[in-house]
Amino acid sequence: MIDGLLSLILSAEVNRTNLELQQTSDSYAAAILLEKQKTAAPKVTATYTVTYDVSYRGTIQADKEEFRNLVRETLTSPNGWARAGVTFKEVSSGGRLHVVLASGDQVKAVSPSGCSTELSCTVKPYVLINDTRWRLSTDSYNNAGQSLKKYRQMVINHEVGHFLGHDHVTGCVNGYAPIMLQQSTGLRGCLANEWPLNNELWVRGL
Ligand SMILES: [Zn+2]
Repeated sequence: MIDGLLSLILSAEVNRTNLELQQTSDSYAAAILLEKQKTAAPKVTATYTVTYDVSYRGTIQADKEEFRNLVRETLTSPNGWARAGVTFKEVSSGGRLHVVLASGDQVKAVSPSGCSTELSCTVKPYVLINDTRWRLSTDSYNNAGQSLKKYRQMVINHEVGHFLGHDHVTGCVNGYAPIMLQQSTGLRGCLANEWPLNNELWVRGL
């Protein structure tokens, strides 16, 4: 009995250490990626200013202010779409882009054929972030030991990428998942990545 308990505790300890190691090597890999991207950054040829507002639909369980703050942090980050020449400015309403934290049924309601209750979805000018995914992340990220913040920033940048004219892509670039790869449903052998890659720094149809 005691032996059984001890081995249970030990194996839990090993699992925890593995997860920590994975997270450490992952943030190291992320730092290397950002450094590489900076040194090989393409020239920005056009600049855009996009006003956006933040709202909520359906029954929201997440912390709304935390959502608003991380949306702002992500959209104004020098690691993000700013590298494609896009400046995001938050307004209280009437933005060109509406960033919405929505319950699954409300995500699907915007486009019953194009969106699901399970994931986030973009139907211009709406970027709908799924409240359940926002709170719990996805199996693909959780199983790879990725932090909730990283998942959240990935999903914001991915959905806003659709708003900026991007479709989905497949295949890793130097081992990393492009932001427009559907990382929520599977990393497909790539390292998780929450920022647009250098070859994704373009805007169409704004
Ligand atoms: Zn998508």
